[in-house]
Amino acid sequence: MRILVTGGAGYVGSHCVRALLRQGHEVWVYDNLSCGHRQAVPEASLIEGDLADVELLRSTMERTQAEAVVHFAAVAEVGESVVNPAKYYANNVIGTLNLLNAMRGAGVRRIVFSSTTATYGEPERVPIPEDEPQRPISPYGFTKLVIERALEDYARAYGFGYAALRYFNAAGASPDGDIGEDHKPESHLIPITLQVALGQRSEITVFGDDYPTPDGTCIRDYVHVDDLADAHLRALDRLVDGQGIKVNLGSGNGYSVREVIDTCRKASGHAIPVRLGQRRPGDPPRLIADASRARRELGWEPRYRDIASIVATAWHWHSSHPQGYE
Ligand code: UDP
Repeated sequence: MRILVTGGAGYVGSHCVRALLRQGHEVWVYDNLSCGHRQAVPEASLIEGDLADVELLRSTMERTQAEAVVHFAAVAEVGESVVNPAKYYANNVIGTLNLLNAMRGAGVRRIVFSSTTATYGEPERVPIPEDEPQRPISPYGFTKLVIERALEDYARAYGFGYAALRYFNAAGASPDGDIGEDHKPESHLIPITLQVALGQRSEITVFGDDYPTPDGTCIRDYVHVDDLADAHLRALDRLVDGQGIKVNLGSGNGYSVREVIDTCRKASGHAIPVRLGQRRPGDPPRLIADASRARRELGWEPRYRDIASIVATAWHWHSSHPQGYE
């Protein structure tokens, strides 16, 4: 297939682009490089552009003759979305509507969309099933929920076939160490902890140890980026006009912040000093996926099942690229 990947130069996007190319698809990457990296994708595939550029979106659909879109391009920092919601509504809502309307104009109706656990807010049931009420508590989570609803409406009215993939905590890197996670500034637990191991930071701050969990720190479900990429390929194969697939993508296993830091110590062989800090606003104590629907509907099984194997690939990337893509 000819596939347009928005945000394909970003963290999850670049791993998906590789997987698509390996499957023999013709891939175009549409990315404004605000978070993405030119070096993460084949030069010839890159169209540098913004979702705000309606005319470029239109001409890109025409030029690439895309048959489907995989849509990663978004801003995705919960904390930032609270202080700068305008950026989130502009990029994630208006930007995505521009994309959907360019697709409509070109008669492209198949899309795989990056959604998130943040659409659930503070779920009552853990492991979280997909029918848990979606009550996001951050502007980020809400912008993603708006697009899930828009896709439902576009499916009903215009025959769009879509998949909304709700990621849990994306982690790890390509096992060959060629591409990986590089956010500036970095806010995520595993890369920050590995930067401490590399001597680039003096310590990792644990955001609260008085949660109702066995060791008092938050529990998350870490899922390998290559497993996420694989789910996108499977979803693309299963899109049906006028219908939607909504699935959680998590490993189904939860690890506490302290367990993750311990795993980073073992993987790197370095002592990693820890400082105890305040809770981070908006962090629920436990988020673990019920991933049984992805297994059923996509035939998806994560290959990386435990945190040690995920962190090993992250360490390989960070230790071989201490400055990221620079
Ligand atoms: N966390 C932490 N210190 C940090 C960064 C993250 O204790 O410097 C915790 C955070 O509170 C959460 C978990 O690690 O419980 C995962 O956070 P991350 O930002 O990696 O992903 P999120 O869960 O926000 O998507």
